[in-house]
Amino acid sequence: MTTLVSKWNYPTTVRFGAGRIKELPDALAATGIKRPLFVTDPGLAKLPVVASTLKILDDAKIPYGVFSDVKPNPVESNLTAGIEVFRKGKHDGVIAFGGGSALDLGKLIAFQAGQTRPVWDFEDIGDWWTRADATKIVPIVAVPTTAGTGSEVGRAGVITHEASHTKKVIFHPKMLPEIVIADPELSVGMPAFITAGTGMDALAHCLEAYCAPGYHPMADGIAVEGIRLVFENLPKAFANGKDLVARAHMMSAAAMGATAFQKGLGAIHSLSHPIGALYDTHHGMTNAVFMPYVLAFNRDAVEEKIDRLAAYCGIKGGFDGFAKAVMKLRKELKVPHALPGLIKGLEMDKKRKTLIADMAVVDPTAGGNPVKLTKKAALSLLESALNG
Ligand code: NAD
Repeated sequence: MTTLVSKWNYPTTVRFGAGRIKELPDALAATGIKRPLFVTDPGLAKLPVVASTLKILDDAKIPYGVFSDVKPNPVESNLTAGIEVFRKGKHDGVIAFGGGSALDLGKLIAFQAGQTRPVWDFEDIGDWWTRADATKIVPIVAVPTTAGTGSEVGRAGVITHEASHTKKVIFHPKMLPEIVIADPELSVGMPAFITAGTGMDALAHCLEAYCAPGYHPMADGIAVEGIRLVFENLPKAFANGKDLVARAHMMSAAAMGATAFQKGLGAIHSLSHPIGALYDTHHGMTNAVFMPYVLAFNRDAVEEKIDRLAAYCGIKGGFDGFAKAVMKLRKELKVPHALPGLIKGLEMDKKRKTLIADMAVVDPTAGGNPVKLTKKAALSLLESALNG
């Protein structure tokens, strides 16, 4: 029984349901935030979904500031600028509003504004997070508008270190939003490409968490239901963005993926992170490209588990049936089968391939892959994803 030892964290309050964004003032009051900084991205800032949310704050006479200088795959200069606005505006909390990029950056501003060390000192390595002054981390209310990263229920923020072209995962338990408003109506305007990419991100999180070794029956249980929800609802949300039921189930699946991946991730993410950092590709879409190649690579270690998963999801044919279902889903969502379909004019020489393989094996997610991700294996997976 000694191996049945683990650590489980499930502390976020999620107010889930269509129309619940109107509870934003109440959520702020519950967390003690009186002067929030509203963090979003520039694309969203132009859409009615932001205007109508800010009107809720105006109507409630809540003084707030807005920061929207957040690029997809946020970088350090976004964080530095956000911290300056936060300090100048004397804010006491953050509303992180958007997809993973804005959610992560909002969380990182709330975390980093009161620290004295550089953000890179808090990378998710060992227990570096203990260096942070936890008393200086301000509360966060998170409002997702995509359905993929699940950052709203996570304790990490992803940020690109531009000098080394690497995506770093910054971690602190207090970076977990205190309240999440998960309102599927906010995700209705997502374009089809983002719906597909973010939905596949949720699938990648659930699948890699489920396949990661380690004792975590709660994560496994959450992951399998998350996967079932994706197969059932992602094609519907992709075909009809206004399908609120499908949007709601996808928002759940996203939160479930991030809840489950505290157990671990794997080689899909280890390879997708360097590609995202070097080519600025959409994270979920990049995961979707790598998914079938990594699944095949892990087969011997996960076949029995995937047989059980397939049966649960009502997919016939065990592992092979599941692998086919992944391919069918990708096709339906117009996911490119290989990296050149995602990155225009892509050409990779040997040096670049070696660099990516080197980055993949040291990515913090590599340890969660059920089969050891050696440099040779990373190179071979990259070749598969390049050639299809
Ligand atoms: P994103 O936040 O980068 O958003 C992608 C695009 O979608 C943006 O242009 C945005 O304006 C637009 N958009 C978002 N919501 C919309 C809506 N409702 N209507 C119309 N347009 C909308 O995409 P993402 O996939 O949600 O997040 C990706 C980021 O999250 C990456 O940086 C990735 O590394 C990170 N990530 C973080 C975690 C975590 O645990 N913290 C997990 C996975 C990924």
